[in-house]
Parts: sequence; C-alpha cells; structure tokens
Amino acid sequence: MHISASLSAAGAWVDAHALWPSLPGWAYVLLTLLDTHITTTCVTLFLHRCQTHRAIVLHPVVAHAMRFWLWARTAMPTREWVAVHRCHHAHVDGPDDPHSPIVYGIWRVLFLGTALYHRAAHNAAIVEQYGKGTPDDVLERYLYDPISLTGPFVTLALNLWLFGTVGLAMWLVEMAWIPFFAAGVINGLGHWWGYRNFSTPDASRNLPGRIWSVLTCGEALHNNHHHIQNAARFSMRPGELDPGYWYFSALRAVGLARVRQESVTAV
Ligand SMILES: [Zn+2]
Ligand SMILES: [Zn+2]
Repeated sequence: MHISASLSAAGAWVDAHALWPSLPGWAYVLLTLLDTHITTTCVTLFLHRCQTHRAIVLHPVVAHAMRFWLWARTAMPTREWVAVHRCHHAHVDGPDDPHSPIVYGIWRVLFLGTALYHRAAHNAAIVEQYGKGTPDDVLERYLYDPISLTGPFVTLALNLWLFGTVGLAMWLVEMAWIPFFAAGVINGLGHWWGYRNFSTPDASRNLPGRIWSVLTCGEALHNNHHHIQNAARFSMRPGELDPGYWYFSALRAVGLARVRQESVTAV
C-alpha cells in the first residue's frame, strides 16, 4: 500500500514535469515504431552492411551518428557485433556457429537468442579473430561500455522527460526490439522458416511476407544475403522489399554514402 502510493506519487511528479505526457495513444505507438525503425536502420546499414561486410561506405558524420544512436539504444560495441556476425558466416549452421537454430533449436534462438549472442560477444578469442578493422577509439572503449548500460539509461531519462510515465513503456519496447528481431527473428527464423531463392550451403531463408522486410529493414531476406554476403542490396527478386537499401540510396543521392564494391543485385 505504502509502496504503491509512493510509486503513483513519483509517476505523477514525472508526468507533471514531462513535455508531452498526454498525447493520444496512437502517437506514442507511432513514435515507438519510428524509434525502433531508426535503430534497425542503424544495425543493418552501419553494423551489418558497412562494418561487417564492407559492402557500403558511410560518410563519417553518418557513421558517427549511427554509432551514437546504437550506443543509446543497444549498448552493443561495434567490434563485438561485427565479430559475432562474421563468426556466424564463417561457421554457418555448424557446431561453431554462435546462434544457429539447426544447432540450438528454434525456440532457444528465437526467445533466448540474445543470451547466445552475448556468450559469443564475451568470448575474447572470437572478438579478437573476427573483430578486426572496426573502430577502436575512445567512444568504443568507454562510451560503448556494455556493462554500464549508460546509453540505454540516457534514453530512459529522455523518454521520461519527453513523454512522462508512458515513456517507460516505450523504452521497454525499444530495448527489447533488437534482442528479439535481430537475435531472435533474423538469427532464428532466418535459418529455419521461409523460402529460398538460392541453394546456399546453409539453412538460410527469406521470411515470407513483406511485413518482415519492413520490420527488419530488409534483413529478413536472409537467404539472399547469405548468397551474396557483400551485396549492398538484399532484395533480389521482384516484389522483395529492402528498406535498408532505400535509405542507403537516399544517403548516396546526397553524397553521404557509396557502394564499396560492385555486386550482383539481381539474378
Ligand atoms: Zn545467417
Ligand atoms: Zn551478414
């Protein structure tokens, strides 16, 4: 009774000092989806297509902005993400793949994929072998500290200030988004469920239905990606959507990004 009274008093104080604590419900849903879409874009363009596979080059201003956003939303150091993903490609669907549903089972990867990711990310040998060529500066070493979680707590404070107590619910969705959609859906379903355009020597699949591609900014076309890992564009057949490539194309149009190497984009 006493604790709940204190909590509701604290909530009332937060709402009284917030900028927009009483917007319509749909506005908060839309803002949360926009936030997670930006995070997904940063993962696919900066961490995946730029840093891991060197398919694209981003202007330093864009690269730093994306790194900063990822620090605030995921607290994942660039080097660790890149190392775990390159390790996945090197040992795909074999015993040394950090998160194959063929090895660990679909339910474990889908719902506990983030634990498998962190186990590999904290393996010094994997990070040393596969993390080469990633930024190694003050930002990575101190600001992107995966233990302190400073970035996500800055996001929480900002959410509470902007939206009041509803900002806490938005924050929970924002924090769960990448662990579920990247570590669970892409790493799990992307090697377990869907169609194959190419008979790659792994179990990779493209998730059926365009909604998956929209939610993951094109990452759902995972069989296409395993077929040509250094392609800037993941969509390869008519009707397939790759929003990540749309945003890359917009950045390229204004001189903020370019393709590093020519790659086959249609078969
Ligand atoms: Zn894969
Ligand atoms: Zn990849």
